[in-house]
Amino acid sequence: MKQIALALLCALPMLGLGQSSALTTQLYDTYENYKEGSIGKRRIKRADIQPLIATYSSNPKFKVSTVGRSIGGKELSLISLGTGDVNVFLWSQMHGDEPTATQAIFDILNFFDSKDFKEEKEAILSNLSIHFLPMLNPDGAELFQRRNLLGIDINRDALRLQSPESKTLKRVRDSLAADFGFNLHDQSTYYNAERTDKPATISYLAPAYNYEKDINEVRGNAMKIIVFMNSILQKYAPGQVGRYNDDFEPRAFGDNIQKWGTSTILIESGGYPNDTEKQEIRKLNYVSILSAIYTIAKQNYKEIAIGEYEKIPENDRKLFDLKITNASYNLMGNSYKIDVGIHQVEVDYADHNSFWYSSRILDQGDLSTYYGYETLDATGYTLKQATAYPKTLNTLNEVQSLDFGQLLKDGHAYVRMSTIPAKQLNSPFPVHLIGANYKIPELKLQPGINPTFFLEKDGRLEYAVINGFLVNLSQSNIEVPNGMIYK
Ligand SMILES: [Zn+2]
Repeated sequence: MKQIALALLCALPMLGLGQSSALTTQLYDTYENYKEGSIGKRRIKRADIQPLIATYSSNPKFKVSTVGRSIGGKELSLISLGTGDVNVFLWSQMHGDEPTATQAIFDILNFFDSKDFKEEKEAILSNLSIHFLPMLNPDGAELFQRRNLLGIDINRDALRLQSPESKTLKRVRDSLAADFGFNLHDQSTYYNAERTDKPATISYLAPAYNYEKDINEVRGNAMKIIVFMNSILQKYAPGQVGRYNDDFEPRAFGDNIQKWGTSTILIESGGYPNDTEKQEIRKLNYVSILSAIYTIAKQNYKEIAIGEYEKIPENDRKLFDLKITNASYNLMGNSYKIDVGIHQVEVDYADHNSFWYSSRILDQGDLSTYYGYETLDATGYTLKQATAYPKTLNTLNEVQSLDFGQLLKDGHAYVRMSTIPAKQLNSPFPVHLIGANYKIPELKLQPGINPTFFLEKDGRLEYAVINGFLVNLSQSNIEVPNGMIYK
């Protein structure tokens, strides 16, 4: 990478940022006052944000315009405020299943609509004009899928501009001649900061604008903002920030918008322990993006040393939801030591408003270079086949009344039913439901199978893994969201 002259700030990298840091703390502490309560889970749709956009349309502090429509005819709205000469453009959810920053945008709008933080807001709005384009891919959001209705990835359409969503993004960027761009995404929760067990809760990239990965002033400013945002996140999610590979992708929007002269900051919201709906990550978006906006307004980012950017750990993808290590596994008369890596895979219900789990073994063997959100050291434990409860039941109510804690202690992870209701997609219980003639397959660990087994030590079952969720059999709580159905 081409080196550029660094300011002499290595000694004082945070010079002039004291004020921003104080603001950050206040933003974090008062967040609940501004959180938009009507959108609190990942599966949100255009109809969910429509009432919010309508409210801002009739609010004189904001200017709302329809800047385009999706292939499916859904409006793309731009919400603007501020009178400054520096244009900041933020767009979210060009991938339909990446909603975290869309939620944070409406929190940020609530912040600007409030009467608080007068001085800071005056500094921001007199120096900047800020433009938000939330949910660029509303058709994808409707189906909670990455791609749009054309079945393409909008982020590979920056040159060909076939999709109306892509055309809109380019046209708005050009019409604003935006100085700064925030390209807001979600990434897989399985990313970690390299060689650590810390999830990459947020990952950043100042995209390259050529294959040489040169750093001009436009890209350099994006790097400085990222260094600033990283310093904020380290306070609230230490070690949980990653940096994306900056290989040039000629078809991507981030790379091109950087090339077109807008300092572009890619933000990817990843995973955070016990935050399935990513509401803590949403808060971190709110705090760090607003702080960045303030720093752009005050221009004190200019003092930051670009060299700090390269020190952010790279993104890696080495996390499992559940990792079991050193278990003994008996196969054809021999015993083997094995690690098992499990993903708890979400399956949407037909309306794409909620989901259930159909988990998978993703990998097995020596997984010592991988990590888990939850890890069990199974040294001394032997993997055991799960069996069926001996009685056949007729109704879901009858199953409901079973003592599941006792069933699992007895090694039963399956309940046989005379007839499984046809509409039922999964078992609402911490056991699998099986049909009258279903034959439970012999436990044969393979990537791709549903992880269901027991862990035995000294002749006693101590743990169960049901549909990829770990249950400690000596405790009364069973946190298995659902089981499977095998007819
Ligand atoms: Zn994305």
